Amino acid sequence: MKRKNKFAITGLALLPFLFLLTGCPGSKDNDRIVTSDTTKPAPPADIKVPAFNADSAYYFTQTQVDFGPRIPGTKAHKKCLDFIVAELEKDSLHPMVQTSKARTFDGKQYEFNNVMISSDPKNNARILICTHWDTRPWSDMEAVDSNKPFDGADDGASGVAMLLEVARHLKGAGVGVDLVFFDLEDYGQQEGKNGETTKYPEQDNTWCLGSQYWAKNLPTNFIMPRYGILLDMVGGKDAVFPMEGTSLMYAPKVVNHIWDIASTLGYSGYFTRDRTAPTIDDHKYVNELAGIPTIDIVHYDVKTRDYPYFHHKQSDNMSVIDKKTMGVVGNLLLHVIYLEKNNSETP
Ligand SMILES: [Zn+2]
Repeated sequence: MKRKNKFAITGLALLPFLFLLTGCPGSKDNDRIVTSDTTKPAPPADIKVPAFNADSAYYFTQTQVDFGPRIPGTKAHKKCLDFIVAELEKDSLHPMVQTSKARTFDGKQYEFNNVMISSDPKNNARILICTHWDTRPWSDMEAVDSNKPFDGADDGASGVAMLLEVARHLKGAGVGVDLVFFDLEDYGQQEGKNGETTKYPEQDNTWCLGSQYWAKNLPTNFIMPRYGILLDMVGGKDAVFPMEGTSLMYAPKVVNHIWDIASTLGYSGYFTRDRTAPTIDDHKYVNELAGIPTIDIVHYDVKTRDYPYFHHKQSDNMSVIDKKTMGVVGNLLLHVIYLEKNNSETP
């Protein structure tokens, strides 16, 4: 996703950062799980939430990294598409692949493929969970060799891994779940940095090309979900997920709903109440073009007021991935899904 939202959200982009620094990012693991934080009652006893397997999510991340960077137009990209489809088929989830072409800011044209499954497809009570599966072609946040690719272990692979693992637990949830894997999210033009992206005239809406298309071309018979959750960089060590600005603008109730459940589970050290400036990520277009109130769970460093240190760098490899973070995010997602059937209205 894009680091700073300079153009898209007029007015709000000028809001000052509202960092309350109530959390304690970067402190020891033991301090980060706040088990005494129970602002809401525990899940009702009749709701059995399946256990999320973080080992499996880690393995799915490693598998994608082993393909190589999933850059549009490469063999690794194609292998990853086949892998996602095959894994979903194993769960008998009938993946649909939405294929089209898009022109990127550098004048190239790429085929892209959004993959989607809908569990319990006739159920009118639904949630959308989405992520992107492509890798950015350049490590353009590096000072040196910024045109080199990077593994995208967290930026891309971790979100896919999370969705694939969640996919195994959708039967019997009581609500329908739409999982969408967006392509061509990370090929956007980054202004003000050295490298490939600055050779071209500055253009708008160059990020999130797959989700822009999906949001304008929803599948036939698509039942509008109550809300959506986007995952981006969700497997990093010492991850902190503050409340993200674009999510707060379009879907503040959904943010509160998810962060309240996280709090109930004792995850306030991960899901802090800090606020970030609005960012551009797939959820922006899902909100604006499809009208689905959608939030972004994205690793953001409240100390540096920026994405994590490995964002769009060579260091975004398996060494930054932590099963513990994956377990937290996965367990939260399964609770959100399984508690949803008791919700009488959209949050
Ligand atoms: Zn990215």
